Amino acid sequence: MDGLRPLFEELACEPLYVAGPCSAESREQLLAAARGVAMAGVGVLRAGVWKPRTKPGSFEGVGSEALAWLAEAKREYGLKVITEVATPEHLEQALKAEIDGVWIGARTTTNPFATQQIADALRGVDIAVIVKNPVIPDVDLWVGAIERVYNSGVRRLAAVHRGFGTHQTTPYRNAPHWSVPIELHRRIPTIAILSDPSHIGGRRDLVAQLSQQALDLGFSGLMIECHPHPEEALSDAAQQITPAVLQELVATLRLRRTPASNDVLGDFRLHIDTIDSRIIELLAERMDVARQIGEYKRQHAMAVVQHDRYNELLLAAEAKAETMSISKEFINQIFSAIHEESVRQQLDVNKSR
Ligand code: PEP
Ligand code: MN
Repeated sequence: MDGLRPLFEELACEPLYVAGPCSAESREQLLAAARGVAMAGVGVLRAGVWKPRTKPGSFEGVGSEALAWLAEAKREYGLKVITEVATPEHLEQALKAEIDGVWIGARTTTNPFATQQIADALRGVDIAVIVKNPVIPDVDLWVGAIERVYNSGVRRLAAVHRGFGTHQTTPYRNAPHWSVPIELHRRIPTIAILSDPSHIGGRRDLVAQLSQQALDLGFSGLMIECHPHPEEALSDAAQQITPAVLQELVATLRLRRTPASNDVLGDFRLHIDTIDSRIIELLAERMDVARQIGEYKRQHAMAVVQHDRYNELLLAAEAKAETMSISKEFINQIFSAIHEESVRQQLDVNKSR
């Protein structure tokens, strides 16, 4: 993808930070957030005006009235301001209000018809555009949405990784599946990819570690939700951080040398780091299920270790390993260790009663 430019030329630095409330709720709230964002040294303010909500009846944003507050924040604090658009009408109103950039949300990116309509409306418009990953971990859908926008002539274009919906129990609101943005980077090496630790974590106590992990993996920046009074937020209250926490976070994140795209070893290592991180997440998920089994066995007065089941599991794992050029002995060791920890976790369930 040739000719891409930084989202904001004046802020052409890495990492690029974007922060602000999930939703613009009132003029006072937005200006307080903007002030905090500017004080943290962050150059781009985000705020949702039209909110795509999964559940009907949730707060759906105050609508176009809030665009004037964003414009005021821009004048008052010298910030670039961005908001989410989901239809050509949203885009038209945002452009009238001199908004500096827009993002296409995860639910919209999932729908090629909706993305194409926005892309068509972007033709001939010089504005920064950020494409969030689709709700499902489908890299083709993400690439497709980015291509639609690029084909309309947009060159100030970036991607945001906000995690993926899942029915599985994970510590996160949206499973990170780090291999998906890494694959996006492989397919489109010229596009800047930011990570959104707020929507991935869904909890403010996870924001710092997810931010550091993204920078360690070589992401170009972060989009973080920040609200002057997070616990009172009308949307995504559990994941927003205060301006003071944002300031502290930005000051303490460790910056890494990002591997150049021709740094082959660096790319391999990033890939390995991602896989390791997934292994840990999968193990945590497995232990979660083990504890549920422990609870079931406790209620039904069953013994924790069922030898037949353990033998079956080991044989199946060894057989699978052999078809994938992994030695039986190695898999046997790994699964024995996993089983031991599983049993320990199940016994813990019994003990805690
Ligand atoms: C948001 O950024 O507040 C938002 C709704 O994001 P997503 O599309 O990633 O859910
Ligand atoms: Mn949000």
